[in-house]
Amino acid sequence: MNSVPASATGGFPLLSLSGVSRHFQVDQATVTVLDNITLAIDAGEMVAIMGPSGSGKSTLMNILGCLDTPTHGHYRVEGQDVQQLDNDARAQLRRERFGFIFQRYHLIPSLSVLDNVEIPARYAQHTRAFREDNALRLLARLGLADFARRDVTRLSGGQQQRVSIARALMNGGEIILADEPTGALDSQHGREVMHLLQALHRQGHTVIIITHDPQIAQYARRIIQLSDGKILSDQPNPAPGEQANLILVPPETFAINTPPSARRSWRARWDGATDVLHSAFGTLRAHRLRSSLTLLGIVIGIISVVSLNAAGEGARKYVLNTLSTLGET
Ligand code: ADP
Ligand code: MG
Repeated sequence: MNSVPASATGGFPLLSLSGVSRHFQVDQATVTVLDNITLAIDAGEMVAIMGPSGSGKSTLMNILGCLDTPTHGHYRVEGQDVQQLDNDARAQLRRERFGFIFQRYHLIPSLSVLDNVEIPARYAQHTRAFREDNALRLLARLGLADFARRDVTRLSGGQQQRVSIARALMNGGEIILADEPTGALDSQHGREVMHLLQALHRQGHTVIIITHDPQIAQYARRIIQLSDGKILSDQPNPAPGEQANLILVPPETFAINTPPSARRSWRARWDGATDVLHSAFGTLRAHRLRSSLTLLGIVIGIISVVSLNAAGEGARKYVLNTLSTLGET
């Protein structure tokens, strides 16, 4: 799928950084991690941002994904300056347009595969039925239908990364940001993940891959090289490596544009409340020893307070009784 030129998105590139710098304060010294970055990414592109460890790739990804804001310069999504949005609007932008994939998957071990995939839709306040339906379709689309009810910890690394890809697609995943998505995988599973990302790009998703590995960067159609927080080069890659003809079920089967009726209804609110209880009990179950020790601590605390109160009350009555006896004589 070719990228959509800026003119097709109202004259603005999908994502644009102009003069972006990011500084951190470390022990009273200012460290410049990104230095005056200017670049634009159009809808439907597949871009690799490549550089050695410490070159500022993850910092750049955090800014692109609205997880962080620049110290100087402007980051715009379809012309909208992200710094001008308040926290809620930024969270909404992140939730509805971005899907994240991380090197170590960042799945929640106490939840099942299905529950992990559903998480972004919970934050978007969809009803449970709607979430489950879409999560199951996504899992089937990624070849994980049989694993939906399983604990994520019982899956291999490659399967866990596919679960995290399903999670990235849950709210549509229009823009997919993948930070070293193959970093924890062997070469075969790494290739599978890259073929999946290529297939998603062919279906119209904008895919941005952060990597230190030139071989992984070769899967993309444009390679941006970063060094010490600066762009060294920004080149098209006319012959992206290893185009596997992986066919995914077309995106019509999942929710790129979710109906507003399925959101923020009383049903969605009720589902949200019961989900909180469900997660709380799930976490208690997953950490049995810790939970029982905490419970024991609470019981001992309550018994101590009640006993001290009773002892205090007993002593008070004894003193009063003694005093009243003294008065009689
Ligand atoms: P990469 O992903 O390319 O390995 P990062 O973007 O994670 O690089 O980090 C680039 C540099 O910025 C590193 O030297 C790191 O120590 C520093 N850095 C990142 N985040 C912070 C922070 N919150 N505070 C201080 N220094 C940071
Ligand atoms: Mg990094």
